[in-house]
Amino acid sequence: MKIPAIVYLLSAIITVYSSLVTAQEALRQIKVLDEQSKIIALTFDDGPILGVTQPMLSLLDKYQAKATFFNIGKKIKQNPQLTHLVIASGHEIGNHSWSHKKLTELNSEQQQLEIHQFQQQAKLVGLKPTLFRAPFLKTNQSIEQLLIDEQLLLVSASVMAKDAKKNVAVNNIVKKLSEGIKSGDIILMHEREHTLQALKILLPLWKQEGYQFVTVSQLIALSVVTED
Ligand SMILES: [Zn+2]
Repeated sequence: MKIPAIVYLLSAIITVYSSLVTAQEALRQIKVLDEQSKIIALTFDDGPILGVTQPMLSLLDKYQAKATFFNIGKKIKQNPQLTHLVIASGHEIGNHSWSHKKLTELNSEQQQLEIHQFQQQAKLVGLKPTLFRAPFLKTNQSIEQLLIDEQLLLVSASVMAKDAKKNVAVNNIVKKLSEGIKSGDIILMHEREHTLQALKILLPLWKQEGYQFVTVSQLIALSVVTED
C-alpha cells in the first residue's frame, strides 16, 4: 500500500471526525480501511529535547518512519531549530500544551492559555497543529470545549510505552511494545534516551512484521471511525 506524501483531504476529514467524537472521547485506535495493510502511528511526547530529537529523527529516517511529535510549547521556544528539523524530516507536530501542567487542575482561562499559547508558538515556526494530546492524558469538559474552539482533535493512544520516567529499562519498553501490536494502533512514547535505544530494536522487528509507520493525521486519513 502506498501512503500519499501529502494528505490534502486531511483537514476536512478531521472536521468530520471532530463532529463525531463525543465530549468524553479521545482518539485512541482506529480501523484502517485497507485490512491488508499494517499501519501504526508512533507518537513522541514532551520534546523537543536537545540530544534526543536529532538521533530519533535519524533512526526514524532509516526505517522510512513518519511520526507525530506532541511537543511542549515552552520547549519549542527554547529550541525552535529542533522543531524545524522535525517538520523538515516529514513528521507532524501536535499540541501538548504550553508548559505541561495538569490542565484539569487549572481554571478555564488558564487552560485556554496553555492550549492557545502553544498554537501561537507553533505559528512562529510556520505551523497550525490540528492535534492535541493532554498532559498526563487528563481532560475534562471545559478542555474539550476549548479544543473544539481551537479546531484541535483530542488524541490519546492505544498502547503506552510507559517510558516517561528516568531510567526505564530498555528491555521493559521493548517487551511492552513488541507484543500485541496491531494495525491502527497509536503508540505513546516519550522523547527519551531509553526509548531511542528500545526503538533501535523495535523498528527492525516491526518492519519485519510488515508494519509501516505513519503520522496520526495520515492514520486518520487511511481509516474509518468505528464505535468500538
Ligand atoms: Zn507529556
